[in-house]
Amino acid sequence: MTAFPVVLSAPSGGGKTTIARALLAAREDLGYSVSATTRTPRPGEQEGRDYFFLGRDEFTRRVDAGEFVEWAEYGGELYGTLRAQMDAVLASGRHVVLDIEIQGARAVRKLFPDAVLVFIVPPSAEELLRRLGGVQGSRSASLVRRLRRAIEELTEALEYDYVVVNADRTEAVAEVATILDAESGRPRRNAALEEDLAVLGREIGALADRIEQSTEA
Ligand code: 5GP
Repeated sequence: MTAFPVVLSAPSGGGKTTIARALLAAREDLGYSVSATTRTPRPGEQEGRDYFFLGRDEFTRRVDAGEFVEWAEYGGELYGTLRAQMDAVLASGRHVVLDIEIQGARAVRKLFPDAVLVFIVPPSAEELLRRLGGVQGSRSASLVRRLRRAIEELTEALEYDYVVVNADRTEAVAEVATILDAESGRPRRNAALEEDLAVLGREIGALADRIEQSTEA
């Protein structure tokens, strides 16, 4: 079967990074494309595991060198998918998971029409607020900015192939896994299927011939 890109997007606080990690831990047929970014690492984030953290100059140098499949500005920082990361996973025969925002998802869809795009949404406004670390009565300009941006991002969800509501993490992971299994079974993703069907057809033909001959005898 031909490996394909799996794009996961969500409004910030949608829970997609947790879902991506859980999927990658559970399935051997998936690999992660580590993005590059100009933003500074958050506590606990590791170079080369969560992101490649680059200075702006280095990032733009690599853009000019054609090292990115796509890149976009988000919240004042640059983020991009490295061609070498994607290629390495696809070459190993695994589907490549991209945790990227909407502009990036659009670019990937254009370049890889066989990509599967999944948009993860929080189950409610209150839950989104909670996941963003806020509480009712919070006073924070950045929290308001992120909530407003989530509204904008939600309007883009209909462009995706699938929308998964992340009410329960285990269930959301299972739902994405089901999507991947169904997508993997599509005939157009299975180059060997045509030959397999031809072999099966010949076997059935041989069987029919034998039955026919024995009934004639
Ligand atoms: P964060 O700073 O919270 O890790 O990520 C901010 C946003 O950038 C998220 O929506 C994340 O999915 C997106 N992002 C991460 N890596 C990439 C990338 O390589 N390309 C694009 N277009 N977006 C990315």
